[in-house]
Formats: sequence, structure tokens, C-alpha cells
Amino acid sequence: MFFHLMLTTECNLKCKYCFGEVVEDFEEDFGDLDIDYLLPKTTNYDYKSLKRFCNKDQNCTLTFYGGEPLLRIEDIKTIMDLVNVKCFMIQTNGLFLDKLESNYVNRFHTILVSIDGNETLTNQYRGETTYKKIIDNLKLIKKNNFQGELIARMTVMEKTDIFTQVKWLLKNEDFNFSSVHWQLNAGFWGTDYERRDFEKWSQKSYIPGIKKLVKYWVDHMISDNEVLKIYPFLGIANSLLLGEEKSFLRCGGGWINYTIQTDGNIIPCPTMWGMKKYYLGTIKDSNPLNLEKIRIELSPCIECDIFGLCGGRCLYANITKRWEKKAYEQVCKNTRALIEAIKREIPSIKRIIDTKKISLHDFEFMKFNGCEIIP
Ligand code: SF4
Ligand code: SF4
Repeated sequence: MFFHLMLTTECNLKCKYCFGEVVEDFEEDFGDLDIDYLLPKTTNYDYKSLKRFCNKDQNCTLTFYGGEPLLRIEDIKTIMDLVNVKCFMIQTNGLFLDKLESNYVNRFHTILVSIDGNETLTNQYRGETTYKKIIDNLKLIKKNNFQGELIARMTVMEKTDIFTQVKWLLKNEDFNFSSVHWQLNAGFWGTDYERRDFEKWSQKSYIPGIKKLVKYWVDHMISDNEVLKIYPFLGIANSLLLGEEKSFLRCGGGWINYTIQTDGNIIPCPTMWGMKKYYLGTIKDSNPLNLEKIRIELSPCIECDIFGLCGGRCLYANITKRWEKKAYEQVCKNTRALIEAIKREIPSIKRIIDTKKISLHDFEFMKFNGCEIIP
């Protein structure tokens, strides 16, 4: 099982799509969802109980998460010294990666770093000078021999040209990422849709950009004998090549990937912190292997012809329905365009595999590592 471990609810950045929206969204209510707004800001349980909890699952994977987990460096070190897991990962904004000693950093199987693309775009979304600090820290951990997977984790919205920015993250003069994933900022807040230009951007920029990027991805297989780790493409192509078209939520949220809150309660996904209705147990008295599994059983997903590949995109968005039906339809159109663009290339990909330039193994990846696959 995979667990996001929320070490703190605090963050050292004020990103536009997160802090900015929290401020706007503060008065919104979540209908009949009773929210615990008084969660402790930092963990308030004994890490020995976390150790006992993880000991019950020999494949337990812990991903440090926040807020910003590197605000709690001493907790990270204590947990890494105490708890036995299959692997540790971290999802971070990267600004304090230089503050954690390399003997800990180098034990991470995967580091997911929030970065949105080039310097201008990243700083626009995340704040001035953010980009340079992230890049300097990534260069430092590489110099200090970090060998694990480093994933650029983009948040994508109207200022993003997806084709240009993903390509840029893969190859540029500052730092080349071997893996890229993105999540659309869509359906997470209650008041943003009206203020934004999501539909127009999706149709004029995002969908055409995705089509171009898929083409680039396949061309690269031919020219460089390499399957670039562009996670949304990798995950969908993997399913199509293996004929696995009956997926549960592809992020794993609520069935294989859970989150441990700062108070030790277990919830399906970090975004669902405080939703008492979805408290599925606690680290003190639950067995990680017997946690309740939450499925998406709501319209429109259950009637959708691509449910098997999409998996329902996001449990939180499905449950909270923060965007009206009409608005959310554009998110689904984006998903459909993505899936269709990859489907169209499957015959070509199979031919490239036949030439032995690449192999089916090149489409393998660690599932549920924090990349949701469906953006
Ligand atoms: S495309 Fe939309 S409706 Fe269809 S399964 Fe995905 S989220 Fe649900
Ligand atoms: S896709 Fe939704 S449910 Fe899954 S991890 Fe992301 S926010 Fe949570």
C-alpha cells in the first residue's frame, strides 16, 4: 500500500492556484461533508505507532507530504530512522532540499518536485525566485549522488502552453528532468471557474498542445530509441498496450493509495483532509491491508464510455463536485482528447516495438507513486 504522510499543513510558498484560491474559497461550504477545521498543524502522534502500522504491510510505501514536508526535517529523519518501509518518497516544492542531509535524500526512491515549466512560468505561478532555488537544489542533490527518480510535477492552467513547457522540462540549459507529470487545476475550488477562462484555453491551447506533444513523444521513440517518461502518456499507453482497460481511480486514491493526516486518521487522499465522513481508520488501530476501499460510483463516470481508462480522474472532484456539471464537462473533454490522441498512436507504437528500437518494458513505471496519470 502507498501512504501520503502529511507532516504539516503549513507551506512556505503562496502559489496562485493553492494559497490564492484558499483565500477566495474560504467561505465556501462542503454541503453535508462535516469538515474538521481544527486538525493539528503538525503530527501529534507517536511515530512508534506509525512503525507498528507499517510493519503490518511488507510493501508499505511512505510519501512525505504537506503542506511542505521539508518544513519538518527532524520528523522526516526520525521517521526514516525508525520506520521500516519498502520505500520512502517525498512530494516537495524543493526549496529546502538543500537542508536535508544527503544520506537521507539519497534514500528516497522518488522525489516529486513541484515546478511548472520554465523560469517565467514557474515564478509567475509560485512566486519570484522560486525557480532558481529549485534548480540550484536539484543540481546539488544530483551532485551529492541522488540516484532515484526525479519527477517534475506541474500544475497546469491557463498560462501554460503544455507542449512548450513539458518539452522544456525534458530538455533545457538549466536542468533536464527524466520524468514529467502534470495535474490540471480544474474542479478543486468552488469559486474559480467563473473568474477563469478554462474552456477557451482547453480548446485553443491545451488540447492542440496535447496532440502535438503525443506526436513528439512517438517521434522521439523513433529518433532516439527512448520512451520519454511523460506520465499521463506512459500510464494510458501502458494500459492500452496491455489491454488493461478496467481501471479504478488511477491515482490509487482510496483503494491502494491513502493519506495519513497529522492526527493519525487515514483518509483516501490529501485533498480530503478533515472530511470526517471519509475517515477510514487510524494508524493506531487499523491494518493497512484491510482498509475500506472507496470506489467512484457516481454520475457521470459510471455512464461514461471511457471510465475503464480514465478511472474517474479524481475522487475529491467527484465527491465534492466543486465545479458545476457544465464546467466539469470540459475537464472530461480534455481527458477524452488525451486518451484518443494516445489511442491513435498505438498501432505506430506497436510497430516501433516490433523494430526493437523500444520494448514493452519501456512503458513500465511504479504505479501510484503520486502521478495521477489522468491530469
Ligand atoms: S472522462 Fe469524466 S465522466 Fe468519464 S470517467 Fe473520466 S471523469 Fe468520469
Ligand atoms: S486525483 Fe484527486 S483523488 Fe486522486 S490523488 Fe489527486 S486529488 Fe486525490
